[in-house]
Amino acid sequence: MTRRADRQQLIRIMPAKRDHTPTDTFDVLVAGGGVAGLVAAWRAAQAGRAVCLVDRGELGAGASHVAAGMLAPVTEADPREPALLELGLEAAWRWPGFAEELESAAGMGVALRRTGSLVVARDRDEAEALDRVREVAAGLGVTMERLLPSAARRLEPALAPTVRLALHAPDDHSVDPRLITAALAEAARRAGAVLRCGEEVGEALIDGAVVSNGREPTADGDRPRITGLRLTSGERLTATDTVVALGAWAGDLPGLPSAARVPMRPVKGQLLRLRDPEGPGLIERTVRFEGGYLVPRADGRYVLGATQEERGFDTTVTAGGLYELLRDASELVPGVLELELEEAIAGLRPATPDNAPVLGRPRGVDGLIWAGGHHRNGVLLAPVTGDAVLRALDGEPAAPAFAPARFAHADAEALA
Ligand SMILES: Cc1cc2nc3c(=O)[nH]c(=O)nc-3n(C[C@H](O)[C@H](O)[C@H](O)COP(=O)(O)OP(=O)(O)OC[C@H]3O[C@@H](n4cnc5c(N)ncnc54)[C@H](O)[C@@H]3O)c2cc1C
Repeated sequence: MTRRADRQQLIRIMPAKRDHTPTDTFDVLVAGGGVAGLVAAWRAAQAGRAVCLVDRGELGAGASHVAAGMLAPVTEADPREPALLELGLEAAWRWPGFAEELESAAGMGVALRRTGSLVVARDRDEAEALDRVREVAAGLGVTMERLLPSAARRLEPALAPTVRLALHAPDDHSVDPRLITAALAEAARRAGAVLRCGEEVGEALIDGAVVSNGREPTADGDRPRITGLRLTSGERLTATDTVVALGAWAGDLPGLPSAARVPMRPVKGQLLRLRDPEGPGLIERTVRFEGGYLVPRADGRYVLGATQEERGFDTTVTAGGLYELLRDASELVPGVLELELEEAIAGLRPATPDNAPVLGRPRGVDGLIWAGGHHRNGVLLAPVTGDAVLRALDGEPAAPAFAPARFAHADAEALA
């Protein structure tokens, strides 16, 4: 029997809540069950590897639970980050096929809405900024139509007459991230991954005992090797490869050698979930404006976001944050004030010092793969995150712009 078949048989006979042996071994361990960890687990399991994912809470309950779900490489882009813009564009082009494959693998819908976005300006400065965005997009072969107020209001009649200029981004779409994480979890489960919730990762195991294929990790002599994870319960899980996808908390994982670390900071975002009791129709497309956005769902729900705050691990929802969102949105779409409030929530975007993700193996430490730091774009980047993890598992080097090694300091250089 193959190792995968062996594992699948184990899963089938495993009771819903089993007593784990003191050490379980896998090909791939994934720490963190947000969109990054789940897509990594799905792709690795799909490729025939024995996978175990661990999350301390419910799956998808971190930043991925809060995200608005815009797939907006251009309208979210910062022209000073061209590599990230290109990665976002690649991800956006991948999304329709990715959504179709995920829906079929999970047996559930993910609510991809291909309705495009309108970016609107209220004054001359904002209008000039839109023209710069349009130039950058054109340089990358992305067409954005420049709309005068009357044309913008023909597309979205709920826009206020005060709109000065708009850009139509026909390829900036949206999904429901809560459906995405549920579908990724189901697809990963169906592909044979073991998903364990409510269990906290305590530390990385370095140079532990035997890895899952029975070989001692001696090939690289004295190079440190991550051999798995110790849970705070004391249980040890070992694997050939460990994917760190701990979101905003990924910078603090105890046990990692300094050469393998990536600095990660939480960037707080507050948003509101609103509902029109009359059903859909206030706006069809995502409407973006300086400081926020209003994303429509198909069922008459809307997401109004989001603040961007550097306040450590604070997730309180504040009156001031919500006031600013409502004030700005209602200037442009006055009807937003008629909507019912369903939820006010805050989450923590995981951000590296250069705001680009870390995807791949660090230098100087074996057995470790980073999948994190997606900041404002973790949902958009899900398809390319899954690809990057698979490439890393197959031994391919990380793309330099997203390689963890860009944050390694002197002792990493010495080990490499
Ligand atoms: C307000 C807001 C709006 C956003 N809107 C968008 C958007 O429109 N489009 C877009 O593409 N992106 C958006 N994002 C960004 C997106 O949400 C993130 O980039 C993405 O969710 C990050 O996914 P992740 O898996 O890395 O982290 P998370 O989803 O945070 O997952 C990390 C997981 O690790 C677990 N964990 C942490 N520590 C431990 C431990 N010690 N042991 C076990 N488990 C642990 C947590 O429980 C959590 O489940 C938004 C974010 C916010 C906050």
